[in-house]
Amino acid sequence: MKTEYIILKEATLNNNCPECYSTNGMVLSFMQKRLKSKLLVKTKGNVVERINCNTCENQIFPGQWTQDIERVYQYHKKTIDTKPSSIRFTGLFYMLIFLVLLLVGAGYIYVYQPNLLGLNI
Ligand SMILES: [Zn+2]
Repeated sequence: MKTEYIILKEATLNNNCPECYSTNGMVLSFMQKRLKSKLLVKTKGNVVERINCNTCENQIFPGQWTQDIERVYQYHKKTIDTKPSSIRFTGLFYMLIFLVLLLVGAGYIYVYQPNLLGLNI
């Protein structure tokens, strides 16, 4: 399974970075996890939040957030649109199902209706 993140929202924060005190480097992202395999794509319902500072390239963990950051975070959290958790099958999955049905169908005809295949057993 391959993990990727769907970005629901990215917002630039004007707050001071707790690490480098820069006021124009922090980006708040809301993401949802998506797991991909050859046969299915699974979207997780929970939202992952992360603040990264592009100036000092640190991830700012919730324990370091100031009240101001917390407030801006709460504000943005209300505006995001969460995707419901879901499982979607890929084209390959349906192709395999189709092949299995085809084989079962052919097997059925071979066993019970051999005359349809021009066989006289
Ligand atoms: Zn920083």
